[in-house]
Amino acid sequence: MSNPSLLILPGDGIGPEVMAEVRKVIDWFGAKRDMAFDVSEDLVGGCAYDAHGTPLTDETMAKAQEVDAVLLGAVGGPKYDTLDFSVKPERGLLRLRKEMDLYANLRPAQCFDALADFSSLKKDVVAGLDIMIIRELTSGVYFGEPRGVFKEGNERVGINTQRYTESEIARVARSAFELARKRDNKVCSMEKANVMESGVLWRDVVQEIHDAEYPDVELSHMYADAGAMQLTRWPKQFDVIVTDNLFGDLLSDLAAMLTGSLGMLPSASLGAPMANGRPKALYEPVHGSAPDIAGTGKANPIACILSFAMALRYSFDKGDEATRLEEAVNAVLADGLRTADLLGEDGVQPVSTAEMGDAVVAKLDASL
Ligand code: NAD
Repeated sequence: MSNPSLLILPGDGIGPEVMAEVRKVIDWFGAKRDMAFDVSEDLVGGCAYDAHGTPLTDETMAKAQEVDAVLLGAVGGPKYDTLDFSVKPERGLLRLRKEMDLYANLRPAQCFDALADFSSLKKDVVAGLDIMIIRELTSGVYFGEPRGVFKEGNERVGINTQRYTESEIARVARSAFELARKRDNKVCSMEKANVMESGVLWRDVVQEIHDAEYPDVELSHMYADAGAMQLTRWPKQFDVIVTDNLFGDLLSDLAAMLTGSLGMLPSASLGAPMANGRPKALYEPVHGSAPDIAGTGKANPIACILSFAMALRYSFDKGDEATRLEEAVNAVLADGLRTADLLGEDGVQPVSTAEMGDAVVAKLDASL
């Protein structure tokens, strides 16, 4: 059987710097866990524009459609700010998401023990936290028609339309239930069924999919505003939260920042299952290309490393190995190693991007 395939798109700014550390981790799994990947690398974003005059070539797009998973660094930078909208670096990323039809955006909020003090919430509220927000990514109010600013009598009116079809809700609900089965088997669906018809349909469809296909998973429903409150009050009550595009945008940012720095936050965007049963998948850190620190060795590679851990779990069914990698990250942090973004005021000297990557690999070695 051939090795699983991985397309790596480091992108711009700190993207290549953090991805270099992920390559060390990928190589480690190949050498020490007999998990070799067929890795290819290509350009996306500003660097692709520099080389080809477009932020994503058709060839790279086609490759992304064929591989088992795509791992992306970050795109963008001030150099490209004045480019025409159609060739801006972000267009490359948007094209990937759109053409791969990645409708389920997974944003974990996971608190590593050593960073529990870093949160703005009390330590006992966040210590040990491990929840997953699934945001519907390709429909809802950001896409619904009609939309625009129109003239109505003597004044302007701004219109956006919240619209969901049954099948759009059903497919993201299935993603949530499938994921819950790989975790603590609990899903909470959030909408505003009290004031929105689209919320009523959302609740009904999630319940129907549950009853017909996933009765073994524990399902609850919550209004999204109450959900926001509960997320800050006692987030550990949740396992998987599934919600629409708009509420997911807000709730996933809220949940992610419960646990600390941008440099720690991974994400995954999943689409429909391919012929081999694996979902179409793009894994990437939540952060951008951080031009303010690019080239200084200050970037934290952990968000990108944890994105690869998500790939191990959700694309390659290697949950145990994903946990091994997450535990290696936790052990490094427990030793007190910090990149500059994770420093408090206790006088600890920061380590570089490469030193952090090497330390994670050393902990992986120690795990054998
Ligand atoms: P950013 O995430 O790049 O940076 C925000 C702040 O967080 C900066 O101070 C940065 O130094 C810090 N930071 C981010 N990642 C870090 C890491 N791994 N380690 C340490 N510190 C880190 O957001 P921004 O400054 O608003 O945007 C910069 C560029 O990135 C823009 O061109 C923007 O369009 C682009 N961007 C791309 C993506 C993406 O590729 N998915 C996402 C957001 C922004």
